[in-house]
Amino acid sequence: MLGVYLVDGCGNHNFWPSVMLTIAKLGNPILRKTAALIDPRDIKSGELQRLIDEMLETMYDEPGIGLAAPQVSRSIQLVVMGCPDEGGFPETVLINPSIVYYGPEQVENWEGCLSVDGLRGKVTRPSVVRVKALDRKGKSLDFEATDLYAVCIQHEMDHLIGKVFLDRMKDMSTLTQLPEFSQYWQKEPTNVI
Ligand code: ZN
Repeated sequence: MLGVYLVDGCGNHNFWPSVMLTIAKLGNPILRKTAALIDPRDIKSGELQRLIDEMLETMYDEPGIGLAAPQVSRSIQLVVMGCPDEGGFPETVLINPSIVYYGPEQVENWEGCLSVDGLRGKVTRPSVVRVKALDRKGKSLDFEATDLYAVCIQHEMDHLIGKVFLDRMKDMSTLTQLPEFSQYWQKEPTNVI
């Protein structure tokens, strides 16, 4: 069940975006800030609902499988995710998320990021997490995620505390540019640690 996953590279999607948000790239200070909690009373506001829709459209268009609000220059605790492909996970919107449990097993995956152009690197993370959050209607969520879903949640939630996947790499020697990733590493079976 575990293998090579790309956090921002899951399939192609044919959405016609109405609004494309600009992605903040590595070096933009907003990516290093801790994001503010969202007041639950603001969740149903038109402004936040529109931002969620625009973030989902931007994510699918890039294409990516996850996007955190600081990546579109909004320093608030909101992430969107979705990967409809086989082995993927449902479209998910998390507001003020927290991880309340990490599984004991670690899994190593290739990760990339829409804010870090052209690079992939191996990151080791717990393969199971239990998450509490609010959804886009303000309803409480409490669920367990595994494999790619768990990795994506951890990657996106890192953006809410000013971290990117490069900070989570224990061995920078796996840092790889995209053409070299395709040439040398894409088909490599990834070890589970
Ligand atoms: Zn990212």
